[in-house]
Amino acid sequence: MAGLSAAIHARLHGFEVMLLEQRSEAGGKAAGIEVEGFQLDPGPSILILTRLYEQVFRRAGRSMSEFLKFRRLEVLSRIQFEGQPPLNLPGERQACLDVLRAVAPQDVDSVQRLMDRLDGAAHLLDRSVFARPYLEQRDLLDPALMKFGLKMNPFRTYKAAVDQMFTSPMLRAFFYGFPSYGGQSYHAKGPAGFMIPYFMLADGVWVAEGGVRAIPRAFEKLARDLGVEFRFQAPVSQLWTEADRVRGVCIQAESGAMEKLDANAVICAVDPARLAPLPGQETWKPSYSYFTLHWGLRRTWPELEHHNLWIPQNFSDGFREIYDSRQFPSRPIVYLNATAAADPESAPPGCTNLFAVVTVPGDEPHLDYPNRRFEYRERVRHEVAQAGFEWSPGEEVFERLQDPPFFAERDGNHRGSLYGPDEKHRLWGLFPQSNRHPKLRGLYLAGGAVQPGAGLPMVTLSGQFAADLAARDAQRSQS
Ligand SMILES: Cc1cc2nc3c(=O)[nH]c(=O)nc-3n(C[C@H](O)[C@H](O)[C@H](O)COP(=O)(O)OP(=O)(O)OC[C@H]3O[C@@H](n4cnc5c(N)ncnc54)[C@H](O)[C@@H]3O)c2cc1C
Repeated sequence: MAGLSAAIHARLHGFEVMLLEQRSEAGGKAAGIEVEGFQLDPGPSILILTRLYEQVFRRAGRSMSEFLKFRRLEVLSRIQFEGQPPLNLPGERQACLDVLRAVAPQDVDSVQRLMDRLDGAAHLLDRSVFARPYLEQRDLLDPALMKFGLKMNPFRTYKAAVDQMFTSPMLRAFFYGFPSYGGQSYHAKGPAGFMIPYFMLADGVWVAEGGVRAIPRAFEKLARDLGVEFRFQAPVSQLWTEADRVRGVCIQAESGAMEKLDANAVICAVDPARLAPLPGQETWKPSYSYFTLHWGLRRTWPELEHHNLWIPQNFSDGFREIYDSRQFPSRPIVYLNATAAADPESAPPGCTNLFAVVTVPGDEPHLDYPNRRFEYRERVRHEVAQAGFEWSPGEEVFERLQDPPFFAERDGNHRGSLYGPDEKHRLWGLFPQSNRHPKLRGLYLAGGAVQPGAGLPMVTLSGQFAADLAARDAQRSQS
């Protein structure tokens, strides 16, 4: 998605653009796969901030509805706290507050106050973090960003803020996980972790017609309409550099021969670790990743929603294991995506595809994923069974596992980290590297390891930022 967005924006700036992709289709983690008649979305599943996709089509003078349609989900998530009856959280804000009033009456005013405060702050992101990259420390003195930071107490840790606002275990469990999507632990300072739940409630959670995979397909169609050239099965094996300048790339042709392609600018939309490591990156600790299991099942559960969350009673221990001791949680919180609830075409009749996702630290030696992945798999299967979803071996058509080494190997994510480096290697502990390579001229960066961060909407912006910088530099060198 970062590469597709970069290609579209670079083309809009007037560059001749060639997109090189190692696989036989575009979309990366957001591309769909078919297994035994099941249509799987094995990567992102929670769609928010769809207006940021709309912005891409608008910039190209097109209407998104010609390419891509979204529908707002009525149920934000089915939440099941161990030992309690499941709860369907409505996607609409007031209805959600009404449901919370019944189960956590003591915390509803806090949720309301949080939402009100962020209502007054969220628009500042459109003028700061969503508008441009921060190239150096002093750029962070941006008035819109400062104003945003000061709307919440920027000196208190996220966990302290959550604990002060909410006493209900369900709300704490729900909120604790969000900093990991920004590569941070819940000990990080500042309000960034509140933004995803805020956007989920304020702007809605959406499904795309045709599944998540419809998003990169729509971007590819727009890119082709604009004249971007695509080359698939074209793995870039190295950059072609002269002194401190990038001259192009080398790709490994199918025959095994090396092919050199020259370019005025290169946008690297894979983790820089793969082709142009950032200074010191080899030794950086990874931040967070996912461990996933995907099952095709010959049975259904009518109670499943599109998004489902299982929270074991001792969830606090699980968060300590992830954030403090950097272990695979003994009893993980499991997010379960059941796409057939909103998109019946995604599973054959009478079947379900169930996608279990658990937040875990990236690939660190002590986690020993290669030898322990089946032990970890058992932990996830145990929790899914505890949540009431069990099946006989005869009902299981397939199981598909992804873990941090898988993302490192297939997509080039540094030690499997989906959210870039850990806090130590970020500007103010918040912002990853900007979208211009710090050492190599003519090289621009997009994707989840750089600004503004990971997740589909953010990597879409990262592609735009990289193309904008390339265009700005090209203009400067001409004048
Ligand atoms: C299980 C899971 C759940 C997630 N859930 C969500 C969610 O609910 N919502 C959300 O918004 N985000 C979610 N994310 C994060 C989101 O998927 C990513 O941030 C986003 O898809 C990353 O896009 P990208 O373009 O930066 O990278 P990628 O999707 O990894 O794309 C990189 C592309 O580069 C190609 N490539 C790599 N190396 C080379 C090379 N040498 N030469 C040529 N091509 C190469 C790859 O084949 C790939 O196509 C999730 C991620 C995962 C894995």
